[in-house]
This record gives sequence, C-alpha cells and structure tokens, in this order.
Amino acid sequence: MNTLTTELQAQGVHTLLVQFTDLHGVAKGKLLPLHQLPAAVMPGAGFSGPSIAGTGLPRTGPRSEYWARADLATLRALPWMPGVAHVVADGFVDGEPFEACPRQVLRRALARLAAHGLQMQVGIEPEFFLLRQIDGRWQPVDERDRLDKPSYDLKSLPRQLPFLHALRQALEAAGLQVLQLDHEDAHGQYEVNFLHANPLCSADRLMLFKQAAHTLAEQQGAVFSMMPKPFADQPGSGLHCHVSLQAADGQPVAPALLQRFIAGVLAHSGALCAVAAPTVNSYKRLTVGPSITGTTWAPAFVAHGPNNRTALVRTLPGRFEWRLPDASANPYLALATMIAAGVDGIEREMAPPPACELDLFTLPAADRERLGIGLLPQSLAEAVAALQADAVVQAALGPVLAAEFIAAKQAEWLAYARHVSDWEWTRYASAF
Ligand code: GLU
Ligand code: MG
Ligand code: MG
Repeated sequence: MNTLTTELQAQGVHTLLVQFTDLHGVAKGKLLPLHQLPAAVMPGAGFSGPSIAGTGLPRTGPRSEYWARADLATLRALPWMPGVAHVVADGFVDGEPFEACPRQVLRRALARLAAHGLQMQVGIEPEFFLLRQIDGRWQPVDERDRLDKPSYDLKSLPRQLPFLHALRQALEAAGLQVLQLDHEDAHGQYEVNFLHANPLCSADRLMLFKQAAHTLAEQQGAVFSMMPKPFADQPGSGLHCHVSLQAADGQPVAPALLQRFIAGVLAHSGALCAVAAPTVNSYKRLTVGPSITGTTWAPAFVAHGPNNRTALVRTLPGRFEWRLPDASANPYLALATMIAAGVDGIEREMAPPPACELDLFTLPAADRERLGIGLLPQSLAEAVAALQADAVVQAALGPVLAAEFIAAKQAEWLAYARHVSDWEWTRYASAF
C-alpha cells in the first residue's frame, strides 16, 4: 500500500475519490486525502446508509452505516481531475458484503456462473446525446446537426472533436482501450466503444466513462445525456452488451451451451426490462415507431437471430448482442440479472425459439403472433409487474434490493402517471 501511495504521489496525486454506484446507476462517492487509502480499503469509507438510494437501510434501522471498501485493482489517477486518484468500492454493512450493493449483486451472479465452471466477457456499447437547453427547451448541442440521416455523419462529428478527443484521451489515460467513436442515428447522438472485459471490469469502466463524459461535456458547454429517448421522433440511446461465455480455462463454450443461456435471457426478458430499461422514458425507446431515420433499431420483440438487429438478441459467431439495455440502466444490475436469466436457461436446459431472420420491424402483427414472437413490456408498470412475477430475476437482486427496486420503480411510475402533461392540455383542454 505504501508503494502504491508513493507511486501516486509521484504522479501528483493528493486526493482519493472513493466511488460506488447507487440503485439508479448514478455514481456516488467522497474525497479523502491520499493518506487515507489504507482506511478506504479497511474498514472502508463510511457513508450514511439511508442517504443512498436502494440500500433499504432506512427500514433496517441499526444497519445504517454503509462502508464503501476500496477495490485496489481499480485504483488509477483520474486524468480529467488533476491530483485525484479514483477507486471503485464494494458496499459492506456490519462487516459483511452488503447484499443490496449493485457491485456485490454482480459479484454474486459471477460466482453462480463460476459454479458452473463458466466465465464471461462483455463489451458494453454506450450511446448518448450531447445536449443543451435554450429557453427551457432541450436540443442537440450542435444546432447544425439536422441531417435527415445522421448516422456516421462527418459534418457534425468534427464539430464535437474537442469533446470526443478529450474523452478518448481521458479514457485511454485511465486504462480503457477505446475502439471507435461515431455519430449515431439521431441528432446530437454519439457512441463510444471500448474493449470488452469481464463483467465487473466492464461495468466499472462504464461508470468511469460516464463520470469522464459528464465532466468533459460540461467543460465544452454541453450536457452529456444517457436519457434513453430524449426526442420522440428520433432513435433513443441503447446500452447494448456483447456477451460471450468461456470455460474456466478461457476456452469458448460449446454453441449448445450458449444457446441455453440465450434461451434463459429470452425467457426472462419481461422482468429483465425492469432492470435493464428501468425508467418511464425507456419504454418510449422500446417501441417500433416512426422516426426521422425510418427505424429506431431498438428491440420490441422477444426473438433472436443471426446478425438480426431487429431482434432482442442478435447472434454473432461465438457471442450475442443483448440489445435490450438502455443508457439509464445500472450496468451492474443489468449484467447480474442477465447472467441469472442465462444461468437459469442452462440449469433448466432451455431451448431458444427458432432463430428469426425476418425484419421484425416490418413483420405484420398477425405473422408475429403465428410465429409465437412475444412483445416486450410496453411501460415501466408492465415491466415491474413482470419483475414481481419473476422469482429468478428477483433472487439475483436479493430480497432487500428487489423490494427497494420494485418500490422505487412503482413510485416512479405513479409520479409519471399522475403528472398532467402539456400533451394532455393541448389535446383535451378545449376539446369536449
Ligand atoms: N440506438 C439504437 C437503440 O436504441 C441502436 C442503434 C444501433 O444498432 O447501434 O438500441
Ligand atoms: Mg449504436
Ligand atoms: Mg450495438
């Protein structure tokens, strides 16, 4: 530990940022002087439990102190915060791993996978918007970003180079290998891809990416937005996960095993929606609707198919792309519940439905029904009901977090449902 501290001091680091992630996928933490590093490892940095969304601590009385114990494997200097080193923490309460800490939830899911002699690699693909507010209206930060078909656009992309270069350099300096950056399918929308890793590392990296992007966008006068569907008439932001399974020795698993895993992911997709598409806004993305660019490429139907971008699960040689999650998902919880669903598929030897090669966005509803292709939940309320009915996905969250998650999401739905919107005024005010 002394060597670590000396090395960091030599890099000009004087402060430690101990970070964890709350139920909503929001980074939280505190700053400590660097000499507190040993204490951040044991007993951890102390937080008031009831102040952290999703801990269930207000109801568990005396268990109110939340200890964030630094995981030294994640310690690194933060290029976008000179003098600060960042470390990811695991939640502990009463000296035990805290069951409702999202990182602990993912650790448990990985242990279940390991009990089957398996490990996983995940590549997470964040899509996001760069926005600003003018006269209270949200719009793309680049006002000239108005092409009919903005995917891969090379007119607006160069205008965002100050942000994109700064982001890439910051991520690389923080140890992430950036693979590509591009303009996505909507005005003001971009995507950054970085190298796959084991699920814990990928989730940590996504959280680091979000922290860097928020800070660097702000420096450019922009707002970095992971809102799943900012504009009704344009595609939303997904958080696709490319998933592959390996045996303990790192060798790829047999295709039949991956098929069972996929079958489990499809079978539990209703409940997974509540976790991987966890906001009222998520369900404005998961519909097949009109957009300026024709199709939104967001899944709406429970299907899988080779290289089929219209399906929930797009299969590729040796891996699959889980297209369900959106950018508002807590990555630890999304991955943990997806793993639990897949492991259930393995344990129960599930077979996936026949692979679908059709364009599901244009397939008539009658044909879909004939093929037995189900629809994903169409609202947060439906998704939460599916989660309440799914013991496997709830068990992956654990009883404290499952209860907290369901209560928080029911409250979110109710607040939304009771809100009287401008749309209602326009449509109903003088209509009757
Ligand atoms: N933005 C789309 C979504 O919401 C995905 C576009 C793509 O395939 O990259 O999932
Ligand atoms: Mg994309
Ligand atoms: Mg993708």
